[in-house]
Amino acid sequence: MTESLLYSGKAKNMFQTDDPEIVHIHYKDQATALNGKVKEKIEGKGQLTSHISALLFNYLTVQGIENHFQKELENGDALVRKVKIVPLEVVTRNFAAGHFASRFNVPMHKALKPAVHEFYFKSDSLDDPFINNEQILALEIADKKTISQTKEEAELINQKLINLFDQIGITLIDFKVEFGFTSQGKLLLADELSPDNMRLLDKESGKSLDKDVFRQKIGDVRIGYQTVLDRLNNKLIAGEN
Ligand code: ADP
Ligand code: UDP
Repeated sequence: MTESLLYSGKAKNMFQTDDPEIVHIHYKDQATALNGKVKEKIEGKGQLTSHISALLFNYLTVQGIENHFQKELENGDALVRKVKIVPLEVVTRNFAAGHFASRFNVPMHKALKPAVHEFYFKSDSLDDPFINNEQILALEIADKKTISQTKEEAELINQKLINLFDQIGITLIDFKVEFGFTSQGKLLLADELSPDNMRLLDKESGKSLDKDVFRQKIGDVRIGYQTVLDRLNNKLIAGEN
């Protein structure tokens, strides 16, 4: 297999495979915060985010939510459908956290009903600014249909993920997803689904099982990620009910 590096990001390397429609993702052993300003090598983290992503994409496929995921390779890397990414980060919040809690001065983990959906413009140089629907249209970042489709899809994903995590003793606080268009013009959920992109709390202990542990420097992220992976494996692979 001849592969060329398409893109090296903060969390992943993307390689072009022999098939023009398929890219190969390698998850890095790296954690970043503050848009890459804080960076640390964390051995074994890539395998954890990769396995968790694979399980969650497969789960969503079974639940009828089409996405880019094709298969997990033996070394833990992934093959996915190549898409042209819509440069929007779609964030869904079920409970207040992060800068949402500070910006509106609301208690951490205040329940948000209905769930809040937000768009951020994907731009490292601009630090991914918040962007509203009119700004997206006026700047020709996406059209009306894409805006409504991505928001509706994010809420559907939210319902499916809340349900799954509930069954394994985890509260889904918030998460970020990305979408892209295939060469046939189909909009697909893409990128990654892991504790790097979602806030997850252990229902029993209230502890963070996600990247907040790295952001706040309160421990080893791998412990929480491994807990998430083990519980997902038990639920989805071992078939525990
Ligand atoms: P960042 O760009 O924020 O540093 P990553 O390290 O996760 O992020 O890099 C992965 C890149 O690949 C992201 O820019 C993401 O939008 C893009 N991407 C994710 N899924 C696909 C896909 N199926 N096809 C093409 N690009 C993708
Ligand atoms: N998120 C992400 N990538 C980003 C920004 C946010 O995956 O570039 C995720 C983050 O992990 C969290 C959710 O989106 O699950 C909401 O993050 P928030 O906007 O609160 O970011 P923060 O205030 O922590 O920077």
